Amino acid sequence: MTIRAWPSRRLGAGGLAAGALALAPVAAAEALYVPEAEPVADGVYAIIGPTDARTYENHGMNANYGIVETGEGVLLIDSGPTAFSAELIEEAVAEVTEAPIRWILNLGVQDHRWLGNDYFQREHDAEVIAFEQTVRQQQAFATDHLEGRLKEAVQDRLAGTEPAYADRRLPGEEATLALGEVRLELQRTDAHFPGDAMAYLPEEDIAFTGDLVYVDRMLGVHPWSSVQNGYEAYQELAALDPETVVPGHGRVSGMDRVERDTGAYYEFLVHEVGAAAEDLAPLQEVVERHREEPAFQHLEHYEGWHATNVNRAYLEFQQ
Ligand SMILES: [Zn+2]
Repeated sequence: MTIRAWPSRRLGAGGLAAGALALAPVAAAEALYVPEAEPVADGVYAIIGPTDARTYENHGMNANYGIVETGEGVLLIDSGPTAFSAELIEEAVAEVTEAPIRWILNLGVQDHRWLGNDYFQREHDAEVIAFEQTVRQQQAFATDHLEGRLKEAVQDRLAGTEPAYADRRLPGEEATLALGEVRLELQRTDAHFPGDAMAYLPEEDIAFTGDLVYVDRMLGVHPWSSVQNGYEAYQELAALDPETVVPGHGRVSGMDRVERDTGAYYEFLVHEVGAAAEDLAPLQEVVERHREEPAFQHLEHYEGWHATNVNRAYLEFQQ
């Protein structure tokens, strides 16, 4: 991860000219997270964003992205939260390949998965691909995203961001795609957000999980999340047993770390919290009983999320 001062980098055609930057007062320098592509396998790269919350400095790019060379153009997995960050993703892609960005796959509904779609459709004539249900949920959440925490964090860096949706919409819960020489198996997860999905590249044995898997930081259960769906989708991922996982957030990992940071936590939420809810144990007692869970205290954001997650998992299983 790199944080650079804002004037050190020209931001594409829409950015400031180098001459103007040279004249910019030093005091105007603002820290800017600049995404970089790291190699995962031959022709496959990941952008691993910071694991902190959305901030002005990371311009809402606190998540991971995929870059796949297909032989007939680049497939970008998820498009970032804004037009501003889409330009930075575009530059990161250009650092590793000269191939044009031809396809965008949206693995989810959270802001950082898709609000850069419009930029790539406009600037690259890229085809955006997503499940029908992903598009429906993006439409349902778009206003919340654009007027909520994202805007609070990124302020003027939200300028020029317009919600735009998939050109190719996949029915159902599973699909296979052939893009150039690359084959992908897609599957809905409906866990962190309804309409979320994951992608598996069988030849490369790599899974891009979207917001199903969090490594290094604790996953968050929102009121609209489904712990039950997360648990079930995780079992499918475990059965695939990919050699390499690019999680939604956190480092590129093998299944051992994914199991420790996410799989075991879904297990805990279902078998400890869910079971207690079904047994009608009082909510406050369950939250107190599980406030300290040493198996998960190494995860960033434990303090901010864990008790809330227990609470929301309880409510889901109580129904
Ligand atoms: Zn996310």
